[in-house]
Amino acid sequence: MPNIVVLGAGVSGLTTAYLLSKDPANKITVLAKHMPGDYDIEYASPWAGANYMPVGKEGSDHARWERETWPYLKEITEKYPEAGIHFRGTLIYNRKKDQESDTGKWFSELTQPNPWYKDVVLDFKPIPSEKLAPRVDNAQEFTSVCINTAIYLPWLVGQCIKNGATFKRAVIKHIADAAKEHHTGEQADLIVNCTGLSARTLGGVNDSKMHPARGQIVVVRNDPGPMASASGTDDGEAEAVYIMTRAAGGGTILGGSYQKHNWDPLPDPNLANRIMKRAIALTPSLVKPGQGIEGLDIIRHGVGLRPLREGGTRIEKDEVNGVKVVHNYGHGGFGYQASFGCSVETVALSNMPRKDTDEMTSRIGL
Ligand code: FAD
Repeated sequence: MPNIVVLGAGVSGLTTAYLLSKDPANKITVLAKHMPGDYDIEYASPWAGANYMPVGKEGSDHARWERETWPYLKEITEKYPEAGIHFRGTLIYNRKKDQESDTGKWFSELTQPNPWYKDVVLDFKPIPSEKLAPRVDNAQEFTSVCINTAIYLPWLVGQCIKNGATFKRAVIKHIADAAKEHHTGEQADLIVNCTGLSARTLGGVNDSKMHPARGQIVVVRNDPGPMASASGTDDGEAEAVYIMTRAAGGGTILGGSYQKHNWDPLPDPNLANRIMKRAIALTPSLVKPGQGIEGLDIIRHGVGLRPLREGGTRIEKDEVNGVKVVHNYGHGGFGYQASFGCSVETVALSNMPRKDTDEMTSRIGL
């Protein structure tokens, strides 16, 4: 009976714990400083939109993880409405002039006219050039999903608990110390490290390749219809424009920014104004005809730090002070859309028994 501690209760830790918990032989403690329900600058997952807009370069591990994640999200959306995910139309606009900006590079695969994901998402089709605004070079539409993180994260917790996992709050200074925190009181055989941006300061890991890409958002009650995103803005290369309406009354997220190495946890009011103006310019149906940002009904302003890793996500076996560790952190702005792909690989590296994670038909298997 392997004793496993999953350190971290963001989307990475919860998805990995969920897959591991499908085998009753695994005795799992999910250990975290922050849990679903908390809003904190050290906890990225609640702030995400969150939708599935693939950004991994064709042929990369990143793209493979996103490709592998789609069928899971689709299956959860279709079979488990209580998980807080819905299908939503999606519009993507590309301006070639954005390609050298940080935002343009981040979105370069998403916005190119013939992306690998065209056969993954539903109903992909290019938008004819005669329908495009003058400065848009190409555009496409498809059906994707949007996740209400306030429902989905607790749903994952519920699935883990139903499968026998235990949840425990703790702040760990050194990764090896997590092995002493298994709920049985016994030493853990394995630690799965899903600490996101905090992998930078966690003892025994201290990954200096980790840094934030700050994302500022405005959450509103307005519902414009389809989701939309563009390759960049005219307001600076670290600014972005995207709109996504969450399932089950979760409001509409207006974004945003992609400010690398910026740790500021407080919303910048000037940036908030630009975010709202750009969102209305991209999707006028957000407000009534003739209205500007006064037509937006604001729920909250927010800031989250995307846990970005130079060189890419770390999914790797390790051993620290004689304790076996598998890392799964550094998911930048794609933690949800790559969640199952990354977690399946993490489970495989853990060498722990697992059940049916490869079986498409029993993928969720509840
Ligand atoms: P986190 O959610 O940060 O969780 C880390 C966990 O580790 C927490 O539970 C924390 O308490 C715990 N922890 C850390 N250190 C310790 C310690 N020492 N002791 C105990 N516990 C510890 N992704 C998408 O796929 N689609 C989107 O549309 C999308 N939109 C986004 C929009 C914004 C504004 C932001 C900020 C992010 C967005 N993302 C999106 C990215 C996504 O949110 C992240 O990639 C993802 O949440 C990372 O999850 P994680 O579990 O790795 O880290």
